[in-house]
Amino acid sequence: MAEIINGKEVAKKIRKELKEEVIKLKEKGINPKLAVIMVGDDPGSQVYVRNKSKACEKAGIEFEEYLFDANTSEETLLETIHKLNEDFSVHGILLQSPVPKHININKAFRTISPEKDVDGFNPINVGNLSIGEDAFISCTPYGIIKLLEEYNIETEGKSAVILGRSNIVGKPMIQCMLNKNATVTVCHSRTKNIDEVIKRADIVIAAIGKPKFVKENMIKDGAVIIDVGINRLEDGTICGDVDFDAVSQKASYITPVPGGVGPMTIAMLLNNVVKSAQKLK
Ligand code: NAP
Repeated sequence: MAEIINGKEVAKKIRKELKEEVIKLKEKGINPKLAVIMVGDDPGSQVYVRNKSKACEKAGIEFEEYLFDANTSEETLLETIHKLNEDFSVHGILLQSPVPKHININKAFRTISPEKDVDGFNPINVGNLSIGEDAFISCTPYGIIKLLEEYNIETEGKSAVILGRSNIVGKPMIQCMLNKNATVTVCHSRTKNIDEVIKRADIVIAAIGKPKFVKENMIKDGAVIIDVGINRLEDGTICGDVDFDAVSQKASYITPVPGGVGPMTIAMLLNNVVKSAQKLK
């Protein structure tokens, strides 16, 4: 039976430490602030933004929301980003995705100053991560690395299989695992014989958005299973990309959904805002 990786607990510990860092910053007259921009009214995004706002409030981080309707032009969005880039009171800028189709999200990410890009999506940060320079790291992969470290899970020389190659999870995860000296394989929707690839993994990181895709018979005995997926089932419940009940019988470690990777994503966002405030002052 696998040990459950309790992301909620680890995130709580990180948030407590960050709260103390925020107090120290405030004593020096620095008031960490996150600006969040949302275009349109995607219900999922509204929940995520609300959770980020609550988490900031608890940590003592100021939170400013910029809500635009779905017809807002790209020009207006970019102007807002420019203003926030120049605003000394703002330490982190986050553009909530998805954005409406007429907006080029990559152009918007490029416009966010790399020094305030707390989501780590500006190509400068993506590039710095890949060449081993100091960078803001995309919050979900960064949170996963913190979980592996917290549970002393060995990564060096281990075979890590990442399922999914999105810009926000899969791709930055590749670099993070390489930096941890794992041997990395990436699977996506065109991968052939995916079961065989997963079976060779010491560490499986599933980020594909397919409910209970990873089954017990696909994994190696004692594999470490990190489940990033958040899938809403017809009955309203949430499940991951891993068939938790069966897989946890065979894995050595496993993250639950909810309560695994999700809470770490927000904790690392707070971490990045505090880091930015410490640097930008
Ligand atoms: P995404 O942009 O939709 O990307 C999904 C990836 O999975 C793509 O690379 C796709 O391959 C691949 N894929 C889809 N079906 C597959 C299959 N049957 N076999 C192998 N690969 C397959 O998703 P995302 O934004 O990375 O998110 C993935 C999941 O993580 C979602 O459930 C999302 O809600 C969740 N998520 C959770 C957190 C968190 O904090 N816990 C944060 C972000 C996302 P192609 O590239 O070939 O299309």
